[in-house]
Amino acid sequence: MGSPNPIPLAGPEQRQEQPWTPALLAFPWHCYRACPAHCQLPTLGQRTNSYCLPESGIPLHTKHGGRQSVTFAHIRPRKTNHQDRARSGDDRLFEQEDVAVKRDPVVVLNAPVSGLQPLSWSQDHRLAVCTTGSVSLMELVCDVHSNKQDLTLHRTSIPVPTDASRLRVGPSEELVCAIKKFSTHPDPTVKQVFLADRVMNPSLDVQRGIKYVSWSPLGCDVSGRCLLACLTLDHRLTIHNSHKRLEWNMLIDLTKKYGERLKERGYAKKDNKPPEADLLDFEELQRRFRMQTPLRMEWSSVYTIKQVQSDNTCKDVEMVLLAVLMENGDLVLWKFLLPFEKGADVVFYDLVESDVTRPNDLAWWEYENADRRMSGLIVGSEVGPVKIMPVSLSGVKGYFTLRHPVILWKECDEIAVENIKCVPMVHPIHKSNCSLIVASRGCYIFWCLLMISPAGLNVHNSHVAGLHSLPVISLAVSQHGVAVYTVSIDGWIKKLTPTFTENSLIFKPEDMLRPEDLIDRRIHGIAVSCNGAYIAMVSTQGMVDSYHPINRTYQVHFLTLKSPETAAALLLKSPTQNLYRMADLLDLVRWQILKNKCIPASLQEELDQKIQEVDSPYLWRFKLFLVRILYQSLQPPPTYHRWKPSRGASKVFVQDGEDGEGEEAAPQEGEPGGVKQDKDNQEEQMAEVQAWINTVETHLMRENMKKVLGVVYLNTWIAQNTSIPTCGLVEYLAKDSNDRASEVLIGHIKKKMNKQTFSERCNLCQAVLPFSDHKQAICQNGHMWLRCVLSYQACQTLTFRRCLLLDTIARLPEPEDPEWIKKILQAPCTLCDSPMI
Ligand SMILES: [Zn+2]
Ligand SMILES: [Zn+2]
Repeated sequence: MGSPNPIPLAGPEQRQEQPWTPALLAFPWHCYRACPAHCQLPTLGQRTNSYCLPESGIPLHTKHGGRQSVTFAHIRPRKTNHQDRARSGDDRLFEQEDVAVKRDPVVVLNAPVSGLQPLSWSQDHRLAVCTTGSVSLMELVCDVHSNKQDLTLHRTSIPVPTDASRLRVGPSEELVCAIKKFSTHPDPTVKQVFLADRVMNPSLDVQRGIKYVSWSPLGCDVSGRCLLACLTLDHRLTIHNSHKRLEWNMLIDLTKKYGERLKERGYAKKDNKPPEADLLDFEELQRRFRMQTPLRMEWSSVYTIKQVQSDNTCKDVEMVLLAVLMENGDLVLWKFLLPFEKGADVVFYDLVESDVTRPNDLAWWEYENADRRMSGLIVGSEVGPVKIMPVSLSGVKGYFTLRHPVILWKECDEIAVENIKCVPMVHPIHKSNCSLIVASRGCYIFWCLLMISPAGLNVHNSHVAGLHSLPVISLAVSQHGVAVYTVSIDGWIKKLTPTFTENSLIFKPEDMLRPEDLIDRRIHGIAVSCNGAYIAMVSTQGMVDSYHPINRTYQVHFLTLKSPETAAALLLKSPTQNLYRMADLLDLVRWQILKNKCIPASLQEELDQKIQEVDSPYLWRFKLFLVRILYQSLQPPPTYHRWKPSRGASKVFVQDGEDGEGEEAAPQEGEPGGVKQDKDNQEEQMAEVQAWINTVETHLMRENMKKVLGVVYLNTWIAQNTSIPTCGLVEYLAKDSNDRASEVLIGHIKKKMNKQTFSERCNLCQAVLPFSDHKQAICQNGHMWLRCVLSYQACQTLTFRRCLLLDTIARLPEPEDPEWIKKILQAPCTLCDSPMI
């Protein structure tokens, strides 16, 4: 159970790490002061003691002036062979082992980073970076139209609002009196506290910048993507969604909404008793500010609830909760009905009073075992304690509520709890579900294992020490094949892999290799992509020639965490069966194909075999992706600059790009015959790959058409015009006489249609639109319309949606469409699984 005092040192696993450095650093954590020039490195003389480590390698405990401090060994970075290997160059890049390799581009930020955790990576592959000017967003796109080996990042941003916002605590005349009273208060303990408080004192400048951002789970907005909650340094908590590719919309200001709610209730506590004092009472003034100053916010996962409709039927509705931790320890829960479109869809859900003093960090604890599910909120404090507060989800099926708060760490040891993360895991020995909670406390990693058995809740906790000699500033968890990544301000990144024993957990530490251009840089934060393919880190210059640079630039670097082989293996056995969710892993495979100009034989073999076993659209989409990238890899690189006038050939200036390329590229001297043959070969190969793409695309299209026809069959009772080109689809499918399944389906449909046909007509000339191609429809007068990839209707409107990878289009649902057509139109892209936006 609870960890004894002093904090236990590195587990036995870590002591086995050999060799130790001969010197042991004694680090009196409590006396630690950062360098006044903010380099955060301890100043000389702060490393007060150093002892020789006995041969045995047993660390020492010392006491400093009655305060306990921890002495620990500094583990020398292990020179593993993969470290040497990565240095030896690119040729060994694609070995089976997971090696950290730097990916281009390095993204330069326009403004310094700000806030608590500057990086956050969403489930829909968008990386948010908090800066003083805006939230800078980078979307990782698995581009199928480019042959560049760099990561394709689409950059957008949400600017910090320019108008200042102040919290409202009561009548303005009363507040003016209070400000006057406390800023000139005779008692310095009141006056100083008031004057130094940025929230209360209006004469202090408000800080501009983003304090924290949090991504909702996937599927919360109208196009099935993530919502972004943003908290500014002046305490404005807003919810945003992305519209199309470049725009971000602010949907609601929750700080304002909560302020209005508090005003209506007379700033009462949860018990609803009106406060006895007014604003001229200092404690009351402080209380009213603290109860609505948000510190952090976190989204829950998506829950399904039953909602009673007006006709007394029940309907399953999805919702997500946003928990907001306030400065007084209150947890305010907002309920968002999904898909979240407008501010009215958010309602106040609950208020939980955690009574944590100086709260600091927040995370959801969500536990599931068989049919038993539980939720809670983990709250950490600046002074040390960590606990789980019960959250009651009464409307959700299968939910149990914790009876009491669960204390995970109770000592007030003045070591702040930061970076709390909670991951569900399966205990391999007990074969039961459990939760692993990790957090950083100073230079230690606090962990806690929660297991629920018939006897009750078991809590195991401890600290991992000896990893970092400076405070951990950022911590990221990779979910599948759990690994914890920690980084301290000096830039050392460690990887911790948890291993279960009968009763506890051991963490295996490893040093992560840093590419050369990241050494000596000061790291501000790290984040791991959704499936653990990449780690992003934001950094700035460290000391330059032992001086602090006058101007700093902030950069985001990307490193791989998995090899393309591991990524391919994970993609093949993915339980989600959704290519888009796996986009970060897919990008690793894409990179490998572009580099080697071929699909790895083993991957192709295994994929074909899997398709033989289970003929799922997911596997076909994966195959289509591989072939499309192969096609891109065969594209010749552009060999001339289009903007430069070509020398001595001004007459061919207006030539077509594609025709011109080869001729321009061909060298004047040498063997023109050989070059021509190469070119022919390449063209032949590209034609072959193009044919392959068409075959796979056609297969996917036919399968989807059958699905759509199946839905049409189920939802029409008599022959009726469904607006879906049923006859066209039937004829198109009938062309292939080897497809038994479609023959049966066509037979059924024809019976129902009863020889009636409803043809689509061109909006411009009323001519019949034939169904000759699944991509487009052309009427006899030459009007061309693109076909929707989901419903196969011709899109005869000005607005439609395109999939994220821009390979298909889809119609927008119309209000007069029946529910089942609306449902068809909600699906992701048939060819690539990406959302339609
Ligand atoms: Zn027409
Ligand atoms: Zn697509």
